[in-house]
Amino acid sequence: MAGCVVPYIDLESCTRCGVCVDVCPAEAVVMGLAGPEFSDPEACTYCTLCETLCPEGAIACGFVIVWEGDSRRGADGPEGGVC
Ligand code: SF4
Ligand code: SF4
Repeated sequence: MAGCVVPYIDLESCTRCGVCVDVCPAEAVVMGLAGPEFSDPEACTYCTLCETLCPEGAIACGFVIVWEGDSRRGADGPEGGVC
């Protein structure tokens, strides 16, 4: 996606169940030693499926609000990683 923004993953809440890895249609996430990580962040389409299906609520897809004709921006929730 434009700007390559990826969801935020709270590794403190994550139980390493692997659901996010299994459901990601873009195969952007793999299970690393410390938990899920973005192996291909540019492939993430920000579909929010991982956020919806994470049983621990450990994933957050914050969103950016852009006012038409205005360069001001605001974010809702924790910011995802930016690559
Ligand atoms: S679905 Fe949630 S709890 Fe499971 S591995 Fe992914 S982030 Fe962790
Ligand atoms: S938002 Fe969609 S494409 Fe991006 S990591 Fe989550 S499931 Fe994969």
